[in-house]
Amino acid sequence: MSKTDWIQQEIEALQNAGLYNRIRTIGSPQGAWLVVDGKKVLNFCSNNYLGLANHPALVAAAKKALDEMGVGPAAVRSIAGTMTLHVELEKRLAQFKGVEAAITFQSGFTANLATIPALVGKEDVIFSDRLNHASIIDGARLSGAKIIPYEHNDVKSLEEQINVNLSQYRRALIVTDGVFSMDGDIAPLPDIYEVAKKYDILLMVDDAHGEGVLGKGGRGIVDHFGLHGKVDVEVGTMSKAFGVVGGIVAGKAVIIDWLRQRGRPFLFSSAVTVPDAAACLAAVDLLEDSTQLVDKLWENAKYFKAEMKALGFNTGVTETPITPVMLGEAPLAQQFSRELFDAGVFAMALGFPTVPQGKARIRVMISAAHAKDDLDQGLEAFKNVGKKLGVI
Ligand SMILES: *Cc1c(COP(=O)(O)O)cnc(C)c1O
Repeated sequence: MSKTDWIQQEIEALQNAGLYNRIRTIGSPQGAWLVVDGKKVLNFCSNNYLGLANHPALVAAAKKALDEMGVGPAAVRSIAGTMTLHVELEKRLAQFKGVEAAITFQSGFTANLATIPALVGKEDVIFSDRLNHASIIDGARLSGAKIIPYEHNDVKSLEEQINVNLSQYRRALIVTDGVFSMDGDIAPLPDIYEVAKKYDILLMVDDAHGEGVLGKGGRGIVDHFGLHGKVDVEVGTMSKAFGVVGGIVAGKAVIIDWLRQRGRPFLFSSAVTVPDAAACLAAVDLLEDSTQLVDKLWENAKYFKAEMKALGFNTGVTETPITPVMLGEAPLAQQFSRELFDAGVFAMALGFPTVPQGKARIRVMISAAHAKDDLDQGLEAFKNVGKKLGVI
């Protein structure tokens, strides 16, 4: 017996259950089409909502910054790793989002790990949507606060939990995803805000899938609902619609200032590199200049979803460019995904435990990078595979 035998057994168990994740390798830049494991396929998988991951303006900005400022920040932000580009990016993001201040992190994931433990501790309580993202759950656990889940997007359930529990704790935080990535539905933020206001509780939204997607020109969920100045903390990411990498926290200056003092991934882990920061700045420029990419994204999403419905597919409760194609059992979703891949379309099957039992699906991620022809090719493949497998 070796001390790693148990790991081998766990891996074999995953393989036997069909849950072992074989990770595909992308051999081309991100875009509407990808080379995946050597095969050219239509990309329905990535979070590259606006096609910025390989946009010439971002690539040029990154190259220019490399020549002028080098590659790495070489220290954590609080010692000697805060470069002019990081500060400029934070200033521009705050302006873009219409908030007092913003701070950036290495990723959306670390933004949550930094923010939640800085705001609540073991004498406190967190009211958390049952379907919140893993990074919210991990941030909440790290904080040591009591975590009380409420039913998904259910403001009544939230208020019930507050009524039963609030008085036993020092402080409280309500936290929700803005857009839920498996179903594409949007949190009822105006109603959640009313509850937060009524009980005077801090309100935090993680808008990773709404940043660059929702609101005017992609300004996010707070802009989408006209809640400026009302949501205390807005977390976002620059790894999805922004096409680069990095996390954002935007909100009141006092909270952002506090995160510079107490956000552990800010204090103890280095920031994104010079070309990353420069490319993110170029993304802000593009979004401020024009709403064209965001408009194209929504036009594509509306077209694709309407055509899928017309074909007879069930696209669930989505309100965003995330398009789940509900299939039921996981083996069917996996077979559907394989058949699509053979037909030149790359779209992921999602099954338990990523989504509930019996709610397996293919998830299509629409992008502004898709031309109408691309979407039509994708629809044709869905039609053929759907008929072959008896789904439509
Ligand atoms: C993708 C995602 C994250 C993580 O963002 P990264 O920048 O990739 O770390 C965090 N929260 C939510 C809700 C997400 O969808």
